[in-house]
This record gives sequence, C-alpha cells and structure tokens, in this order.
Amino acid sequence: MAVSIIILGEYLLMNEKVSVIAIDGPAASGKSTVANLVAKELQIPYINTGNMYRAVTWYFLQNDVKMNGLTNLVVESLLSDFELCYQKNDHGTFVLSVNGRILDFEIRSPEVAEHVAIVATNALVRKKMTELQRYLGGQQLVVMEGRDIGSVVFPNAKYKFFITASPLVRAQRRLNQNGETFSNATLESVAADIATRDKIDSEREIAPLKQTEDAVLIDTSDLSIDKVVEKITSCISM
Ligand code: C5P
Repeated sequence: MAVSIIILGEYLLMNEKVSVIAIDGPAASGKSTVANLVAKELQIPYINTGNMYRAVTWYFLQNDVKMNGLTNLVVESLLSDFELCYQKNDHGTFVLSVNGRILDFEIRSPEVAEHVAIVATNALVRKKMTELQRYLGGQQLVVMEGRDIGSVVFPNAKYKFFITASPLVRAQRRLNQNGETFSNATLESVAADIATRDKIDSEREIAPLKQTEDAVLIDTSDLSIDKVVEKITSCISM
C-alpha cells in the first residue's frame, strides 16, 4: 500500500502539471519583489525558498558551526533539532519560524548572505528543504521562488519563469536594500559577493541554478517592477 502511494506520488510528480508558479533566478535579480507582488495580485500564497536556506544558515551560525567543515554527521545532528515552519499569520502572510522562533530581519543579515550558498550545497539540507517545498506546493496554486523550483522541486510546474538582470543592476539593487550588506560595502564589493554566490549556486552538484528550456526568461534590467508583474500575470489562467 505504502509503496503504491509512493509510486503514485512519483508518477504525479513526473507527469501531471502541478499548480505552481515557479520563479527562479540569480541573487538580487528582483525575483522576490516580483514574486510577492504576483502572489498579491492573484491572491495566492507566496513561498520564498531562499528564506528557508537562509533560516538553516542562521541556525547553523547560532550553533557556531564551522561552515568550511560541514560534514554530514554535523549536519545530520543539527537538522535533527531543527524544525522549520512556514505558516500563515493573522494577516494571511506566510511567516517563517525555526523551533518556534519567528525569523525576519535575522535571515537578511550580511553574515547569513555570506554563508548561505555553501550551506545550500549540502545534500541533507537540500533534501529536507525540497521535501518541505513539495509539501507546501502540492495543494493549491502558489508562487514559489528560488533557484531550482522549475528544474528540481517542481519540474512539472504549470508556469515557469526565469528572472534575471545585469550584474551591475543587481549589485545596485542589493546595495539599496538596507541592512543586507556590510556597512563598508561598495558597488564593487557587492557585485563581487553576488558573483561568488551565483558561481557556487550554478556550479554545485545538486540542483544547480539554471534556466529550464520551458521557462519564460525575463530580463528585468530595464523593466519596471509593474511591467514584470504584468508580464507574468498575463501568462496565468486561474
Ligand atoms: O533567494 P535568496 O538570494 O535569498 O537565496 C539565498 C540562497 O539560498 C541562494 O544564494 C542559494 O544558495 C540558496 N537557494 C537555493 N535553492 C533555492 C533557493 C535558494 O539553493 N531554491
């Protein structure tokens, strides 16, 4: 019985279109802002999977983990006491919590940004996050944003978009986001940090960042946010 349910689940995952609007793309491409607005406009939930990897990273930093020596034994033991929840608050917004503590600005810190890509290369971390994302996404139409949503988490998502922007525009956008960069950051240092993160994200063995063939590519460098939101929502039929 359990086996047939698993097989059916796998079959559905591979063959049926899943009610997910997958929005992937590199760091600081504007995809969070856009994904959030698309979800608001369509009045459906928005799930930011980057925040999940950031929450794991925050938790590892809290536990003084040496990021260079992330062995599976260490990760396994840390994840055994790690409960990530993504729940709606009274205003209908999804709120992320770790072991009951609601996380907000903590996961946007430059320290978390500095280490998150390395944490996201770990197979055990990815397995746990992917399972949670599939659970959250399998139920009603949602906007799910990240790096591997259209390629790995929901390869059969109904809608797929790949959002990008030029390196300079992305660095400028990140620099404008208060509290997300170190106080001595410059346009050059932010651009270098983003490039490092993109390189790790694109070259990792498991679920690397990439545009799938069936994803609609949108370069936001010269587009207003409203225009990008309009481009996406015009493709969706509900
Ligand atoms: O989207 P954001 O820049 O907040 O994501 C932070 C990091 O989380 C990414 O640089 C990447 O390393 C990781 N990530 C991932 N897979 C996702 C979403 C984010 O590996 N689906």
